Amino acid sequence: MRILIVEDEASLREQLGSHLKGEGYAVDLAADGEEGLYFGREYEYDAAVIDLGLPKVDGLSLIKTLRGEDRSFPVLVLTARGHWQDKVQGLEAGADDYLAKPFQMEELMARLNALIRRTAGYASPVLSQGDLQLDTAKKEVRVSEQAIELTAYEYKVLEYLMLNPNRVVSKSELTDHLYEQDFDRDSNVIEVFVGRLRKKISPVDLIRTVRGQGYRFLADNPV
Ligand code: CA
Repeated sequence: MRILIVEDEASLREQLGSHLKGEGYAVDLAADGEEGLYFGREYEYDAAVIDLGLPKVDGLSLIKTLRGEDRSFPVLVLTARGHWQDKVQGLEAGADDYLAKPFQMEELMARLNALIRRTAGYASPVLSQGDLQLDTAKKEVRVSEQAIELTAYEYKVLEYLMLNPNRVVSKSELTDHLYEQDFDRDSNVIEVFVGRLRKKISPVDLIRTVRGQGYRFLADNPV
């Protein structure tokens, strides 16, 4: 999952960035609204965390502009404590959820995960397809109730495919959403991860190769 963070307070920005990276997310950090707009227009994100009080372009204008340009990724806004008007304005501008400062990192993570999951059409934190279950909170995978050991990269590939069911996901989309910008972008690496992943979750056979295009995760309930 690739997350955009737009926060002008340097220490909070860095703290958010390192925490999310530690949880396995690819993260882009923007220090003001202008930078946020650049990133939001340039890259595809799975979610964004946007502070409302930002220099150059304020958070509300940033969200309105991105929404006006059909950028539909879920947005969590950070608001000042006790400013209920901020929350209402943020939601009206197109944000999906809000969190008042100061906040616990755990709450931010839980809200962010819920936003990403709900955007993909899953109500529960445990994504379920046939005999395959992926617990987004515990980062655990089970096949027919048996726990499966996956590496961090294999887990990320499976989670991304399950959150984007029934459509072709290209190898370059996977690298864009799962890895830091400086990651080795050789598409053979993705093939190796997917190959190992398929073996580990067999006999579940829900990841199809679409020749020359990428992969499709087959799901019962199209979303
Ligand atoms: Ca601020």
